[in-house]
Amino acid sequence: MSILKVARMGHPVLRQATPLVDPSEISKPEFQRLIDNMFDTMLEYEGIGLAAPQVHEGIRMFVAGVAGPDTVLSPIVIINPEIEPIGTRIDEDWEGCLSIPDVRGRVPRAAEIRVRALDRKGQQQTMTANGFPARVMQHETDHLDGVLFLDRMKSFESLTFIEEYGRYWEKSDS
Ligand code: ZN
Repeated sequence: MSILKVARMGHPVLRQATPLVDPSEISKPEFQRLIDNMFDTMLEYEGIGLAAPQVHEGIRMFVAGVAGPDTVLSPIVIINPEIEPIGTRIDEDWEGCLSIPDVRGRVPRAAEIRVRALDRKGQQQTMTANGFPARVMQHETDHLDGVLFLDRMKSFESLTFIEEYGRYWEKSDS
């Protein structure tokens, strides 16, 4: 297991659109090792999602998920995702990012989505997600297109340091 170095905002790798993963690459040991290392890195930094460009790998893949009794998003590997909104409802809620440490902001996202992607065995999977998991998957897919959550904010009025977030906003979150 290895903890990978996380690219922070300003690193050009975070602003590049990633090419599709060649499905024949997925079963290779080095690709599987990258997946495991991304999970280790995400857990180490207490993230709930981590996209390959965040660990300096310009490929179309992310991992996401949390373990534990209140799990709302089981650990998942998403390769070559295609996301389409279901319906027109947009929800605004708080997001953070391991590449933008110690900052939170409110971001509008599609409330419900359909995701088509390959899993870590290279199998095609289609799933629907709503609420928090849908938000995470949209945030991570944005990373694969060189987009950061700040780009999606309607206004920077809610942009908040983590300390102030905990002090003023966490409990009143709706
Ligand atoms: Zn992020």
